Amino acid sequence: AQRIVVKVGTSSLIYANSQLKLRTISRLAMVLSDLKNQGKEVILVSSGAIGVGMGKLGLTKRPTAIPDQQAIAAIGQSELMAVYDRAFANYDKAVAQMLLTRDVITYPQSHANALNTFERLLKFNVIPIVNENDVVSLEELDHKTKFSDNDQLSAIVTNMVAADLLIVLSDIDGFYDANPNNNPAAKLLPEIDQIGPAILKAAGGHGSQFGTGGMVTKLKAAERVLAHHQQMVLANGKDPQIIYQILAGEPVGTLFR
Ligand code: ADP
Repeated sequence: AQRIVVKVGTSSLIYANSQLKLRTISRLAMVLSDLKNQGKEVILVSSGAIGVGMGKLGLTKRPTAIPDQQAIAAIGQSELMAVYDRAFANYDKAVAQMLLTRDVITYPQSHANALNTFERLLKFNVIPIVNENDVVSLEELDHKTKFSDNDQLSAIVTNMVAADLLIVLSDIDGFYDANPNNNPAAKLLPEIDQIGPAILKAAGGHGSQFGTGGMVTKLKAAERVLAHHQQMVLANGKDPQIIYQILAGEPVGTLFR
């Protein structure tokens, strides 16, 4: 794979007490920078703005009001980028912030603008770091009307830039045939090539305290990727060096193909 999109979930970046998982963040910066040095093109889609904002404000419970969440996302986003900027600077890599909304699939001009920016950033040898623009996109945060989220955003980006692979890093080893939280017998599925009713049923409900997507949105992302004849791997992000194993074709996580 030459052009790779990596999506990292909140649960991989932030502890339950809203503090940063510094080891994961610096390893992620190291691995992605190393891939750049190998000549690959890398785009990072990162969640975590709200979690980081909560940490910055000293909040331990996520507020329920949308305006609160938007404000906290705005606070956290700049801090999150500052953290990434420093982490990647250790490896002499520059990053760029791209905050996107569904506009990029709704309006052809927005799509063209975003794609042009991606292409130019990659040409400049910079690592684009993408997040949903929470300030104008209520959907991700509103569980009732939730339509869009970073899992699907990462799939949209994967389609847009015609990436060879989307790697989704979460707090779980892959996709199981039942929710492993309440089914100790749940088994990891190494490969999924069709997202049928049994798979959808196994996805169950929401995930962690900070994560908003759970497996449902990861399946929707996978559907989008498969529809474009692209591939996605869902794997555990606790050690980002797993990306090397994925790129080497080793059987880790769940491959959607
Ligand atoms: P992230 O923050 O990485 O996007 P989420 O917390 O939103 O991740 O989603 C991951 C969680 O989804 C897992 O930790 C697990 O608790 C839950 N989950 C529900 N059903 C499944 C399943 N069939 N296979 C794997 N995980 C599942």
